Amino acid sequence: MAATLTLGIIKPDAIASGKTGVIVAHLQQAGFVPRAARMVRLSRAEAGAFYAVHRGRPFYADLVEFMTSGPCLPVALERDDAVAHLRTVIGATDPAEAAPGTVRKLFAESKGKNAIHASDSVENAAREVAFFFTEGELAGLWGRE
Ligand code: ADP
Repeated sequence: MAATLTLGIIKPDAIASGKTGVIVAHLQQAGFVPRAARMVRLSRAEAGAFYAVHRGRPFYADLVEFMTSGPCLPVALERDDAVAHLRTVIGATDPAEAAPGTVRKLFAESKGKNAIHASDSVENAAREVAFFFTEGELAGLWGRE
């Protein structure tokens, strides 16, 4: 099957607790190849735009607050059927309900502070990868555009 891209974000809770490296290693062991990554501190406007689909949901304000509380690490991840595989690897939104061995079961604190984001559809993956990375960055052409 052809290699495809999805977006993962190591969230501020996992960065703050020193789990960045072990989570990236976990993703690599699950067959994902990082194609682009950058540590960013999202503004409220950026977090709001990224999560615009959740505007109006009861947890939206807390989500924006949390995602702007510290740096996070968006990573464009490649493998076959990347979107579906990453959703399986991260586990359920609430770590209490996540399957054993998933990133959220292993590393998340709570339903809000849940260590990692993953795109939930092929369409959203394309939008979310493009939100953070240029075509040149994805092709490994840093600084050469
Ligand atoms: P997922 O990240 O598993 O795709 P959602 O798209 O439903 O989950 O929600 C986006 C993010 O919003 C979650 O990862 C979590 O950080 C936060 N969130 C969702 N539901 C809740 C909730 N009931 N309480 C607190 N935070 C929530």
